[in-house]
Order: sequence, then structure tokens, then C-alpha cells
Amino acid sequence: MAEFQSVRGFHDVLGEDLKRFRYVSDSIRKLLKLYNFEEILLPVVEYLEVFQRSIGEITDIVQKEMFVFQDRKGRWLALRPEGTAGAVRAYIQNKLYALKPYTKLFYEGPMFRYERPQAGRYRQFHQIGAEVFGIQDPQVDAEMIDLVYTVLSKLGIPATIEINSIGCRVCRPAYREALSEYLEKVVGHLCDVCMDRKDKNPLRVLDCKVDTCKSAVKDAPKMVDYLCQECREHYNTLKSYLDKLSVPYRENHYLVRGLDYYTKTVFEAVSDELGITLIAGGRYDYLVEELGGPPTPAMGFAVGIERLSMLIKDLPQEEPLYMVLPFGDVMDYALEVVKKLREMGRRVELSYRKAGLKKQLELANKLKADFVVIIGEDEKKNRRITLKDMRTGKQETINFPELVHETL
Ligand code: ATP
Ligand code: MG
Repeated sequence: MAEFQSVRGFHDVLGEDLKRFRYVSDSIRKLLKLYNFEEILLPVVEYLEVFQRSIGEITDIVQKEMFVFQDRKGRWLALRPEGTAGAVRAYIQNKLYALKPYTKLFYEGPMFRYERPQAGRYRQFHQIGAEVFGIQDPQVDAEMIDLVYTVLSKLGIPATIEINSIGCRVCRPAYREALSEYLEKVVGHLCDVCMDRKDKNPLRVLDCKVDTCKSAVKDAPKMVDYLCQECREHYNTLKSYLDKLSVPYRENHYLVRGLDYYTKTVFEAVSDELGITLIAGGRYDYLVEELGGPPTPAMGFAVGIERLSMLIKDLPQEEPLYMVLPFGDVMDYALEVVKKLREMGRRVELSYRKAGLKKQLELANKLKADFVVIIGEDEKKNRRITLKDMRTGKQETINFPELVHETL
């Protein structure tokens, strides 16, 4: 038994899991480049207020999920639970609004939430997120949802994209009122937490995972019926763009998302296989201003890398592995061969094991070598190598380095 275990909810990522993780992350990064997003590296720690002000006080994240601590001077800090708040803080602090009429950023890194750990839910997890600052037009919303759809298609992950509009400062107050009135009528079915949410932030009740709450809001009024003209047009135009792009979506009129900063468009991609949310995002037209920047509409989403990784069935084939097996006093020549093969771009493992052919071949099999390169005293003397294809068993001796270029 190891003396120490990793902290609950914090995991080592290694082996096949890490291969899937990197495949997901690399594929998304490649797509983000095609959509011309620029990367930003954000700190893991921010002042607590950055999250309180943006995510909102009456949310699960701020009320119970954040890792909060004081530094030695007594300032309140938090490990970031998500990336948007920090991205907005950075956008304002670095005055990115002054450089270009609009800004497209992406970030990647660990996030921290004090949740009950279970499959696909950890206390340290990783997100890649993208944000567009400075454009209100629904063309951005369409392009972002198209990007999410492309990510899922590229990775071969079956999922359904759900969309909704949650309105703006103009139209949401009337909806909030109507929803509050409705909730008063079903109070008997609401959980304790929702009894509190009902008065302070009624939209949060729509996001509750408790079964009785879920059924209690089945007939609740829908935001789409309360949208002002601007929000309605925005929503309708977005849908027409998505149709044009052949991006399939389902309208979910009770989708509100767990953070307060959203306006107009909200969306999620939900796994068809597991029913859990994989990617989530939306528009947040007031957040930049609320954190002290100039009024700037914005839109973004975040991908849960572990959740996508869980759903990756087949990884792309790796580069073939060449295992070099030296026999006798040939290490100088073996090192030369290894260096040359690597210069040629081959994936090469040099065996450090001192053993006979049988044991060495066993090791090569264990390491899943596609080829072994046998180097004995004869090979060294004649500057040759013996190449054995482990998949077919075919073996040939070739000159080094001239013939190697032709053969490999
Ligand atoms: P959920 O409803 O599953 O708690 P959420 O609404 O809190 O998700 P967001 O804050 O929107 O999630 O984060 C975006 C994505 O990050 C999620 O869709 C999910 O893929 C991932 N994610 C969120 N929390 C966790 C976690 N604790 N562990 C692993 N991935 C997570
Ligand atoms: Mg959550």
C-alpha cells in the first residue's frame, strides 16, 4: 500500500486515458486554429470577487463548489472553477478591446470545483474554452455552435445540441415575475434549495437536478414566449443560420445554464450515450461591463475534456514503433543507428536490456513494436542492420544508412 493517495477528486491521468485526453485536446486545438482563435494562458488563481461578480452569488458554483482560501495578507482568492470570468478579466486588464474591433480567444487548463466525485465529475478537471468579444450578431452564435458540432463530429461522439434564449435586461424581468408566480403555485414540490432560489433567483430552479423539482417545473412559463423583439429576432436568425449550416439542434425551453452571466443564446451538447453534458456555453452581453470594462457583447463555450475523452472509442493509429536490439559489443553502432532513424522521423526505442534474442523479442512484443532492428557483431562490422517486421515475421538485412532510406 502506498503511504499517500492523491486527494479525493484529484487524479493522475496516464496511459490510455491520457492518450484519449491528448487526442481530444489536440483535435479541438486544431479546429480552434481553423476558426482563427488565438490562445491565451490564464492564471489558475483569481480574486474571489471575479467569480462572485460574474458567475453570480445564487449559483451552485459560488455557493458550494469553489476552492476558496486566503493568502498570507488575508486577501480572498479562489482556484478557478471555470474560464470565462478570468478571460473577461484578462480582456479588460490587457485592454484587448482597444486593439481590434473584436477579439477571439481560446484557453485550456485545469478547473476546480468542490463537487461529489463520480464518473465524469472530478474536483480537478480540464476545459478548453473559446470566447468571442465584441460582436452581438447571431452569426457568432451560429459559428460557435457550428464549431461545437464540428468538434463532436470530428471525434465521432454522438450528442444532441440543445439551444434556448434566456433574453436580456429588457425582457427577462417580466419572465422572472411570471416564473415566480408559477413557482408559488408548486412550492409543495420544491426542494429546500429551490425554496431559497425561488425568491432570490427563480431561473435557477429550472436548472435543479432533483426529480420533484424537475417535474414541478414541467408546465412553467417559457422564456421564448417573453422575448422582446430584439431577442426574438436574434434567436430566430440564429436558428435560420444553424439550419443553413445543417447543424442539427433541439430547442429546450427550460435550458438556463448554471451561471448567471448569460443573455440571449444558451446551449449545451448532451451525450446521447450517457445523457451528461459535454460542452456548454452561451452569450454574455453584460459581463465585460459588469467587471469594469467597456460595454462589450460576448459569446463563448467550454468543453469538458475528460467527458469527451470517456466517449472516445478508437484512437488513431500511432506511428509504427522500431525497437533496436543490440547483441554483443555493438552499443556505439546501435546508438548511431538509433540517432539516424530518429532523424528520419521514426519512433524508436533502444533496448537497454542485456539478454538473448528470445528475451529481447519478448520485450519487443510487450512494448508492441511493429519492427525490430537487430544489431549484432556482424551487422556492426558490415555496417548493416537486420530488420524484422513483427506483424508479418519477414526479415531482411540491409545496408546502413543507404538502403535504410529506401526500405523504411
Ligand atoms: P454539470 O451540469 O454536469 O454540473 P455544469 O453546467 O456545471 O455541468 P459548466 O460549468 O457549463 O458545467 O462546464 C462546462 C463543461 O465542463 C461541462 O459540460 C462538463 O463537460 C465539464 N465539467 C463541469 N464540471 C465538471 C466536473 N466537476 N468534472 C468534469 N467535468 C466537468
Ligand atoms: Mg456543475
